[in-house]
Amino acid sequence: MIKESLEQVQNKITAACERVGRDPSEVTLIAVSKTKPNATLMEAYQAGARVFGENKVQELVGKIEALPSDIEWHMIGHLQRNKVKYIAGKVAMIHSVDSFRLAEEINIQAKKRGIIIPILIEVNIGEENSKFGVLAEDTPELVRQAAELDGISIKGLMTIAPYVVDPEENRPLFHKIKDLSLDIEREKLDNVSMHVLSMGMTNDYEVAVEEGATMVRVGTAIFGERDYNKG
Ligand SMILES: *Cc1c(COP(=O)(O)O)cnc(C)c1O
Repeated sequence: MIKESLEQVQNKITAACERVGRDPSEVTLIAVSKTKPNATLMEAYQAGARVFGENKVQELVGKIEALPSDIEWHMIGHLQRNKVKYIAGKVAMIHSVDSFRLAEEINIQAKKRGIIIPILIEVNIGEENSKFGVLAEDTPELVRQAAELDGISIKGLMTIAPYVVDPEENRPLFHKIKDLSLDIEREKLDNVSMHVLSMGMTNDYEVAVEEGATMVRVGTAIFGERDYNKG
């Protein structure tokens, strides 16, 4: 049952916060609903979930149109520049900015609409394990460049850690991202805050919270396994 799963994940987040002396209100649970039908999302909504994450533009837009307007939507997947226009103004945050050219396109679409779009820089912390994201060593420079664009607002960093059997293996990577965010914060750039750390998924969100995550993106633990072969 989704209601029980949501409660269980929320309780584990709270427990992880308590272990390291953090306030659980600092951590937002993003319910990752990709591939799941609207009825399933509504079940989570009825159980109190208001923050959802999707990774494909078309699916995201369809769900935004079909579901209640008080849901906060997060774009967490790889984003092509030619699709930014479909989600600009409709999502609370874009987590997956990993190039200046993508940041520029988001900036253009924001300015057209007279809005500022909150973004995160996606860092490829596991390096060979993910094809998206900017390398840690290149992140400060991308942040500095993107900070010049006043149609976007840089809120922090996001990472997709490698899939590992033992989530403890990802602890050093989460720690590295947190350190990177502190290094960038010390530059005190206009238009840049590092308050958001989007890291941790079903397999490793408790470790991520212990290491400073402020947003965890959890799908399977809430909605069950995804079926990509359906339909
Ligand atoms: C699918 C997805 C998640 C959620 O993964 P689970 O292991 O099901 O929790 C989180 N982040 C991103 C970017 C995803 O694409």
